[in-house]
Amino acid sequence: MIAILGAMQEEIEPILKSVKEYKEIEYAKNKFYLANYASNELVIAYSKIGKVNAAITATVMIEKFNASRLLFTGVAGALSHGLKIGDLMFATSLLQHDLDITAFGHPHGYVPGIEIFTKTDSDLNDIAKQTAEQKGLILKSGIIATGDIFVCEASKKEWIKDTFKADVVEMEGASVAQVCSQLGVPFFVLRAISDEAGGGAEFDFDEFLASSAKVSADFVLSMVEKL
Ligand code: SAH
Repeated sequence: MIAILGAMQEEIEPILKSVKEYKEIEYAKNKFYLANYASNELVIAYSKIGKVNAAITATVMIEKFNASRLLFTGVAGALSHGLKIGDLMFATSLLQHDLDITAFGHPHGYVPGIEIFTKTDSDLNDIAKQTAEQKGLILKSGIIATGDIFVCEASKKEWIKDTFKADVVEMEGASVAQVCSQLGVPFFVLRAISDEAGGGAEFDFDEFLASSAKVSADFVLSMVEKL
């Protein structure tokens, strides 16, 4: 069973459209869609926004639906200059920028038990690179910073970028990464840029959510053909 997880309905809608037929199961106040695609069984869901929602949904996909690999698809804000709206980037590692116990001498983003960064699965990342090559798409890779904040302010953006050398900011990836790595499930996190996380990011987000979400969802589904 392969899990495909997004945070918002818009992020998984293109996948549900492509698989055409699916069965809906309600559990833990969320909906899980079971489908077959390219000889693989899929469990598809959107968690709703934020780290806790994403952690619950990833856990359910693994523990209840027996997902043995998890692919996250969605949109994010760009921190590095090289990333523009619509660009695709997968995470090499992820961190939680809003976990702050610096009062006790720990560095920013320190998570008891896992330190700061969680690395993604290199086999899935290689499959992503092959997929991009075959489709003639540019796929970047880098560090994702996750936190329960929609970043739309220059000073916050610069702080996250400088503190963690992060390329992209969003609100779910690192919590999914923690769940998957602690439960021993290989995972992949892909994001298409919807905004640049500075002043006015909320307007770009609204404008580009659907188109960027589709870029990411279509890519993840192409990866499933190779699994
Ligand atoms: N419009 C939504 C809120 C969107 S929050 C509502 O009203 O309910 C932004 C979502 O997109 C999150 O799931 C997050 O992971 C991602 N995202 C995109 N740009 C972001 C940014 N600049 N900062 C943080 N998260 C961002």
